[in-house]
Amino acid sequence: MRNVRQSAAAAATILSLLAGSALAQDFDSVEMKVHPVAGNVSYIEGMGGNIGLFTGADGVFLIDDQYAPLTEKIVAAIRTVSDGELRFLVNTHMHPDHTGGNENFGKLGTTIFGHDNVRSQMAAAGYDEMPPLITFNDNISFHINGETVHVFKVPSAHTNGDVFVKFEGSNVVHTGDVYRTTTYAYVDTSNGGSFLGTIEAHNVLLDVSDENTKIVPGHGVVSDVDDVRAVRDMLVVIRDRVAAAIRDGKSLQEIQAAGLTAEYDERWNGEGRIGSADSLLSAAYADMAGN
Ligand SMILES: [Zn+2]
Repeated sequence: MRNVRQSAAAAATILSLLAGSALAQDFDSVEMKVHPVAGNVSYIEGMGGNIGLFTGADGVFLIDDQYAPLTEKIVAAIRTVSDGELRFLVNTHMHPDHTGGNENFGKLGTTIFGHDNVRSQMAAAGYDEMPPLITFNDNISFHINGETVHVFKVPSAHTNGDVFVKFEGSNVVHTGDVYRTTTYAYVDTSNGGSFLGTIEAHNVLLDVSDENTKIVPGHGVVSDVDDVRAVRDMLVVIRDRVAAAIRDGKSLQEIQAAGLTAEYDERWNGEGRIGSADSLLSAAYADMAGN
């Protein structure tokens, strides 16, 4: 298991760099929980992004894989639902809390898919987890376990490689980190993310969903279109306030000090770069200043 240990060390290092050492906690204490969503679609909650799990006669289809040290626990959780072949895995984007298990799943025979930009951004970031073997530039469909699973690029939002995964039969969408219920949207501008693109991508999510669609966020709990609409509306309010402040000649520092998100902060403010109001305002300013 030498490679698993090496990947664990690499993942821990990346995690510290990404989010501060407070998050680099002991992987041993993480418990995997399988949450049924609809039909044969579930998600696995552990540490890192929610893992989509779709099972049936043709085998196991996964969305994202958290961190390398968690692979054995993830596989054990899958085995409580299915003995099927671990066939396909889609990376929703390049962050290590969604791709850290790639190398391990590759060794288990799983074929990994992702947008072209996921592969190139992982290489550029120096992540040594295995990038997707098969990449696509727009969308790809899987026809397995009795339904069509449509994977499609959305406007650059959280990163420039974001995809949504829609289970057409079960009426479930996994959104990666574009939509989350834990904090404000996190726009990773260093990996091609965009605040305005985040609003557009929420509109895409509303377009492909109906009142019965179950929406699995990258982080947080299953939501419906009303939940997504509320987040989209909040982002639009923030956009308009930042745009007005820019027109008034305000600097980013002044905008961050102006309380533009005050009524939302108790529910949505995250820590540090990940999902904080300051980070969101910075991304909004970057998109709109000078335009
Ligand atoms: Zn992410």
